[in-house]
Amino acid sequence: MRRRALDLSPDVRARVLSTLGDTVLEHLDGDDGAVTPAMTTDEVRERIGRLDFDAPLAPDDAMEQVTALLRDGIVHTGHPRYFGLFNPRPAFMGIAGDLLTALFNPQLAATSHAPAAVELERHVVATFARWLGLPERTEGSFTSGGAEANHTAVLVALQRMVPGVASGGLRAASGQPVLYASADSHLAWLKIAHATGLGRDAVRLIGVDESSRMEVGALRDAIRADRAAGRLPFLVVGTFGTTSSGTIDPLDELAALCAAERLHLHVDAAWGGAICVSDRLRPLLAGCERADTVTLDAHKWLSAPMGAGMLLSADPAALAETFAVTTGYMPDPTEAAPDPYSTTMQWSRRAIGVKVALTLLTAGRSGHATIVEQDCDLGDRLRSRLCSDGWEIVNDTPLPVVCFVDPDHDDAHHQRIADEIVRSGRAWLSTVPVGGRRALRACVISHATTQQDVDAFADELQRFRSRDDRRCTSKRP
Ligand SMILES: *Cc1c(COP(=O)(O)O)cnc(C)c1O
Repeated sequence: MRRRALDLSPDVRARVLSTLGDTVLEHLDGDDGAVTPAMTTDEVRERIGRLDFDAPLAPDDAMEQVTALLRDGIVHTGHPRYFGLFNPRPAFMGIAGDLLTALFNPQLAATSHAPAAVELERHVVATFARWLGLPERTEGSFTSGGAEANHTAVLVALQRMVPGVASGGLRAASGQPVLYASADSHLAWLKIAHATGLGRDAVRLIGVDESSRMEVGALRDAIRADRAAGRLPFLVVGTFGTTSSGTIDPLDELAALCAAERLHLHVDAAWGGAICVSDRLRPLLAGCERADTVTLDAHKWLSAPMGAGMLLSADPAALAETFAVTTGYMPDPTEAAPDPYSTTMQWSRRAIGVKVALTLLTAGRSGHATIVEQDCDLGDRLRSRLCSDGWEIVNDTPLPVVCFVDPDHDDAHHQRIADEIVRSGRAWLSTVPVGGRRALRACVISHATTQQDVDAFADELQRFRSRDDRRCTSKRP
């Protein structure tokens, strides 16, 4: 009986699995629903408040209720007209991989507990390191996402650049350690600076040029000024594909500067780095191969279900030193591979790599390459359609993030268009500040998105755009 409470009986299990299978198939085939949630947050909260854990439900009822909650209470990022943040529709084999992972539940803390899962992840990580052009010696690990990967990069950079930091902490530094990223970078850097004890003031957000790329001259000046003031520059972050505008920082120049100034170079390629699978697009990554550490998210443009980030380190010894610990209660290390609990932030570890490996195995590098190349083409298609409709493109990137404004209209106009389109449920887009004003932003990184979706989206924009004008006209005397 005890076991039945959680394992259920074979026939109930079969029923739940069959319902789950139907849900998966229906959801994947039903692209025509709304992108936006059917319920308001208040309605969601009210429904969830009614779930009573003291009065157990039959498994079928529990499945039905929670499935309905998820179906009606989230933005459907897997929708082909979700032109939003970097959450593409998850690959089917990734979904299958997540189920398989939960089933076997390999514990990756110690290699001896799950050698197959540890080696599978190492194989995937080594493959991406090669595709990114990183040196053969590179090692790394899966992380919950880009934020944990970036956090790890800061710890590794401190380990390399601040002698004695492992035992003495930041007090061992000869001056306040300082890191540099562009003003357009992902602002988890502030959170990370806080969490690592560096403090938010240790982050220098370097100005950008008219294309939103970090200004290398300004970076060099900032490093000089900090050194002159007795501070300790230790880390430069170059972003390959900023979150807001898809901008690519000048990685080659940053690599040269870091080599000359003896600084750690981290490349945050969280979403854009996926282009490493494409021979056509890979030249854009020039300079990334000289990075000391790189962040790449598989749950973004590589379409893995969340969360699946990676941190790659061209200095594996520094990675191992950063997290080094041995305990009497953990199994003895094996010769074959380091134990992930002593090379990463996490301890008990889920096998994140299984879903990524399964997707890679079935789509192959060429399958992923086709997707990123076609998404770039769709981004170009959207840009040229918007131009011919009289919108003005305000960002500058070959990656499929398009930021645009309606010339001679204010921020409120752009916000209203985004809000109304989202409310209509027909597409999802956002707004971002670009060069001091609010622009509309659409990102095309879903393998579900087609030319027809892009064209229909441009049509919607035209429809919602003209409403202000109509309102203005009617108000005129
Ligand atoms: C998304 C993103 C991050 C954060 O990654 P998560 O997976 O959301 O934790 C960091 N940097 C860049 C450039 C990103 O686009």
